[in-house]
Amino acid sequence: MSKPKVVIQIPTPLRQYAESKDSLELEGEDIQEILNALIERYHPLQKYLMTEEGKLRNFVNVYLNDEDIRYLEGERTSVKDGDAVIIVPSVAGGVSTPPMAGLLPMQGELSQEEIKRYSRHLILPEVGLEGQKRLMNSSALIVGVGGLGAPLGMYLTAAGVGRLGLVDFDVVEESNLQRQVLFSTESLTRSKLEAARERLEALNPGVQVEAHGTRLTSDNAMEILSEYDVVIDGTDNFPTRYLVNDACVLLGKPNVYGSIFRFEGQVSVFDASRGPCYRCLYPEPPPPGLVPSCAEGGVLGVLPGVIGSLQAMEALKVLLGKGDVLIGRLLLFDALKMRFRELKLRKDPECSLCGPNPTIKELIDYEEFCGLTEDEGLSTEFQMDALKAAEMLRGGEITLLDVREPVEWQICHIEGAKLVPMGEVPYRVNELSTADNIVVHCHTGIRSARITQFLRELGFTKVWNLEGGIDAWAEKVDPSIPRY
Ligand SMILES: [Zn+2]
Repeated sequence: MSKPKVVIQIPTPLRQYAESKDSLELEGEDIQEILNALIERYHPLQKYLMTEEGKLRNFVNVYLNDEDIRYLEGERTSVKDGDAVIIVPSVAGGVSTPPMAGLLPMQGELSQEEIKRYSRHLILPEVGLEGQKRLMNSSALIVGVGGLGAPLGMYLTAAGVGRLGLVDFDVVEESNLQRQVLFSTESLTRSKLEAARERLEALNPGVQVEAHGTRLTSDNAMEILSEYDVVIDGTDNFPTRYLVNDACVLLGKPNVYGSIFRFEGQVSVFDASRGPCYRCLYPEPPPPGLVPSCAEGGVLGVLPGVIGSLQAMEALKVLLGKGDVLIGRLLLFDALKMRFRELKLRKDPECSLCGPNPTIKELIDYEEFCGLTEDEGLSTEFQMDALKAAEMLRGGEITLLDVREPVEWQICHIEGAKLVPMGEVPYRVNELSTADNIVVHCHTGIRSARITQFLRELGFTKVWNLEGGIDAWAEKVDPSIPRY
């Protein structure tokens, strides 16, 4: 008898190890057999999915249809024909809710102007005068004023949330304007907070915008977050994401989570008093480098608009105490397929933060927790400066290996370089010779550092990483190369 056939969905960050496939059909009796069949076909996936002992890594969750296999029979969960198996790695994660009721004082009356401004809320039975007053007496903190922070800031300001805190320390750069619609060309080089405050106050002078021009850290997070009713995570990195989650759990604040990557997004609401937290979903972060950042991976400009708007919607529902908030649910959005999918999230009884026996009782060092303090793993002796690499290239002494994607090659490349996208390197190592001096480069030197490490582990002894990537080359060697 033949085994059940299921369709397994491969998440974007792992597709590079699976010939760019987004899904494929596999046969097996249970999840373990399905995963083994997947790894047999795409061997490089093994180290991302499994520990050395052959156990599923805990920054990877596997769902059978919409159920987390940890709450079924784990890897021994049997499958049947037509099932969907979904791998959900952590990327840079419903209950009816009248929780805030009674907490928020309903003060004051609306002025004539406010009645006009908010009339479309006032005539909604679910909001009405009481709801609008509640919003005006509430506060929200947006961590990160970027792609997600832009729609969040605009919609929450327009909705009349009384106090809106913003945390960011960056300045507006040209590459932000493709999606961060809070800013205009005139905002370039200005502080994001200043530009955002000006725009938001112009939109609604009734909202008090509070700018926190700092990096959120373990030292200041509790103090800043404690001032707000709801916290909205618009960050793009794991240390801040875990920091926001942990501080919210410790303070008992709801955390409206959103994340984006290329064409895919995730949204949920973490509220440990009523459901799981981010650590219940992902107890630990992926190793540095597995999940590329927006800068490395790209993002379609509208995507943060969609995900940030969904977060704004959830934040308003939390503040209003209306509707079914995304507590205990993870909403996945695939923009290319234009498809939403919803997965159930459960509270992990063993959660080190929100479980009954927590081991995390205060904020920790999140850079260290996310493995970011160990200088990307590549020793400085394996780094090469752009000027030196240029000189050696002119002398014909090196092979320059470009591990970026073909679309990046089309934007710009260094004459004489050989293009092998990072995900193909393991399959195309035979095109390289251990006898040659090889200098590996990417956009800014992060992906290429991993490939340099990878090749050295394979026995290549004459491999170096081009420090700062093609970006440093454009700056130091050849200004005719566009910087992106
Ligand atoms: Zn938890």
